[in-house]
Amino acid sequence: MNFKEELAKLVVLQEEDTLLYNSIQTIEKTIPEEIAELKDELKVSRSELTNAEEKLKGLQLAKKDKELTLAAKEEAIHKAQTQLYQLKTNKEYQAKLSEIESLKADISSCEELVLKALEGIEAAQEDVNKASDAFKEVEQKFTDEISVLENKAKELNAEIEHKKEKRAGVTKDVDKKILEIYEKLLNKRGGVALAPISNGTCGACYMHVMPQIINSIKMYDELVFCPSCMRILYIHEDLSL
Ligand SMILES: [Zn+2]
Repeated sequence: MNFKEELAKLVVLQEEDTLLYNSIQTIEKTIPEEIAELKDELKVSRSELTNAEEKLKGLQLAKKDKELTLAAKEEAIHKAQTQLYQLKTNKEYQAKLSEIESLKADISSCEELVLKALEGIEAAQEDVNKASDAFKEVEQKFTDEISVLENKAKELNAEIEHKKEKRAGVTKDVDKKILEIYEKLLNKRGGVALAPISNGTCGACYMHVMPQIINSIKMYDELVFCPSCMRILYIHEDLSL
C-alpha cells in the first residue's frame, strides 16, 4: 500500500469532513441553542408583561377597595346628617356634629387615597403598554428568526445529504482499514482526525513532535499518530495535493 497516497486521500477527505462536521454541528447544536435563546427571551418578555399586568390589576383592586370605603363613609355622613335634625338635646346634637366632622375628614383622606391610586394606576397602565409593545416586538422577532433558522436547517440538511453522497465518492478509494481508523478518530476527536506537522508541532494540539516521529512519517510505511492527541500526522509539503 502507498501510505503517501492514502494520506493525501485522507487530507482531501478531512477537508470535506470538516465542512460536513460543521454543518452537522450547526444543525445539532448551534441552531437548537439559538432557538432556546430566542425562547428564553420571549419567556422573559412575556413574564415582564404578566408582572406589569398583575401590578395594574392589584392597584385597580386596591382603588376599588378605597372607593367602597369612601362610599360607605359618604353613606354614613348622609345618615348622620339626617339624624342630626331628630336629636333632642344639644349634647347629642354636638356629638353628632363632631361625628360628621370626623367623617368628613375621613372622606377627604379617602378621596386623596383614591386620587393617589388613580395616579398609580395611570403609571402602571403605561408600564403595561410599554411591556406589551416590547413583548409584541420580541414575539415578532421570535417568529421571524425561528423561520430563518428553520429555513437554514432545511438548507443545511439538504447540503449534508449532498456532502454525504460526495463523501461516499471519496471514501470508496481509501483503504478500508485506514478509513476505519480515520473515522474512529474523526468521531472521537471532534471531527478532526488528521493533523499536519507545522514547525515541529502537531497542527491540531500544538504539542512538540519529536524528530524521530517526523522521520517515521517520512518513511511512509505506516500511519503515524501524534503522541498527545492521537491524530494521524502528515507532512503537507510531502503530499501532492
Ligand atoms: Zn496532536
